[in-house]
Amino acid sequence: MNYSHFFIPTLREVPADAVIASHRLMFRAGLLRKLANGLFAYLPLGLRSFRKVEQIIREEMSAIGALELKPSVVVPAELWKESGRWDSMGESMLRVKNRLDNDFVVSPTAEEVFTAIVRDELSSYRQLPLALYQINTKFRDEIRPRYGVMRGREFTMKDAYSWHADEQSLDDTYNAFGRAYRQIFKRCGLSVIPVKADSGAMGGSGSEEFMVESDVGDNTLLLCKCGYAANVEKAACAADFKIESSANTPAIEKIDTPDIKTIEELCAFLKMQPQSFIKTLIYRVFNSELEIPGSKDREAFVAVAIRGDLDVNEVKLAAVLKASEVNLASDTDVTRLTNAPVGFAGPVGLTSLPLIIDHTVTAMNDAVTGALAKDLHYKHAAYERDFKAWMIEDIRTVKIGDKCVQCGGELYTKMGNELGHIFKLGYKYTRSMNVSYLDENGKSQMPTMGCYGIGVDRTLASVIEEHNDEAGIIWPVSVAPFHVIIVPIKYDGAMKEAADKLAAELTKLNIEVLLDDRNERPGVKFNDADLTGIPYRVVVGDKGLALSTPQVEVKRRSEKENFMLDCDKAAAELAERIKEELAKK
Ligand code: ATP
Ligand code: MG
Repeated sequence: MNYSHFFIPTLREVPADAVIASHRLMFRAGLLRKLANGLFAYLPLGLRSFRKVEQIIREEMSAIGALELKPSVVVPAELWKESGRWDSMGESMLRVKNRLDNDFVVSPTAEEVFTAIVRDELSSYRQLPLALYQINTKFRDEIRPRYGVMRGREFTMKDAYSWHADEQSLDDTYNAFGRAYRQIFKRCGLSVIPVKADSGAMGGSGSEEFMVESDVGDNTLLLCKCGYAANVEKAACAADFKIESSANTPAIEKIDTPDIKTIEELCAFLKMQPQSFIKTLIYRVFNSELEIPGSKDREAFVAVAIRGDLDVNEVKLAAVLKASEVNLASDTDVTRLTNAPVGFAGPVGLTSLPLIIDHTVTAMNDAVTGALAKDLHYKHAAYERDFKAWMIEDIRTVKIGDKCVQCGGELYTKMGNELGHIFKLGYKYTRSMNVSYLDENGKSQMPTMGCYGIGVDRTLASVIEEHNDEAGIIWPVSVAPFHVIIVPIKYDGAMKEAADKLAAELTKLNIEVLLDDRNERPGVKFNDADLTGIPYRVVVGDKGLALSTPQVEVKRRSEKENFMLDCDKAAAELAERIKEELAKK
């Protein structure tokens, strides 16, 4: 491929909103252009790398027996109404109407579509397990698209879904996807951290996210030297408390705390540490699968108590309540439900709400807590003497310095960006969408499901994020748009002849070559070669060609040193190196 025939509009200036390396470089190197906020066009060079990421994904999917489908992106709203997500998806889902006023969805994900396809075809246990996938356009009307294709509105996802007759089969496939994902990211040259993740409300029993470390990542990861790694949404920690008896605790006593609302004010007023307080928060719970006392229309209120120095993790709380969402109750609701102004809720004497306590509260045998009345607190409150709980759960937000559940080591944090997610879904969709098959005994059964996603664009951007320097991109061979760029010092005479010959030989050996045939100064061509990051640069110059054995100069984009190759051996030697790198899996 000749450079002058290829469309590579490199840029000196980058858009002001391009604050991360990959975003800047995708624009500068002529891989991408923006159409609108969160909407982009891949240009030819960018698309070549994009297709390579897709191809790696395809190969690894095929290696674990997953089969590719290509459903439409615009799908009938009826499917989403069946699953119940037409109402629950919110505004990120793009809904459109056709000329007949029928509702459609521009797929943000495709559990419904795949489940509907399988429902119509599945009849016997002999068809299971089944794993299907697509690599297809998704649309999510993200509130804040940013960092280029890292978080776009339209993007491409590989999403896979699997159906199983039993848990064991789901486990096997889930583990196979986990291994395939590790392999995909490794082949793309990415260092990923697989972390335990929240598996949500719907009875999912396992979930793992594949993260890359990133200063601008949206996820906080808690990590330990021993290998423990979890998203903060899921992270647990070892107990940092001892259960002690309340036999010697003085009787509970009301104290005046005039105009004091926050834990900080209370600490200062009583000259105590936050660890001595029980913090009580009121939450509104949506769509819980549990029978929460007092719930109405799938909504309920609960009180949540935790040690004063800790924070409630709302994702963990939603998970233990098997709820789609939990939100802090409004001030009006708090006042109504606790019969006290905001700031004085406490577990003692609280009869109007079910009480969920964090494990830490079970160890509190002499605490201060709100007394459900204005300007009043209790001191000497002791669990179980003075209050009991409806549920005792781990609902704290784990933070830096907490102790690892696996080894007791100190946890540290990193920010991460999610590239992929594997998830045991259970029966959520097969139940709501009525999927069944006949087992060996002719009895009707419902299959269990898994789902598995990778963002293609985000993976590609992350490769650039991990492999770049001041001069530009440093592509790993596996996803580079071309393997070799040939730069004749001048595309003329003997240099032209040698460059053309080398390009033809390499092409014959299935090596992808970009030949810089432009009439530009060598410096310009070298800068562009560095910027576009093609792994091998071969310079064809007069001096090398004039040697008794004519030579070309080769430079690996990732290395500083050049080396020389004889012209007549260059193609074979380069092809061998490149094929060796590509074969490394
Ligand atoms: P996030 O938390 O980043 O919004 P998600 O958990 O909603 O992602 P999933 O539904 O699990 O995403 O989708 C699977 C994969 O699709 C993600 O791991 C990510 O790589 C990719 N992805 C999701 N949203 C976007 C987006 N707006 N732009 C680009 N890729 C995305
Ligand atoms: Mg996810």
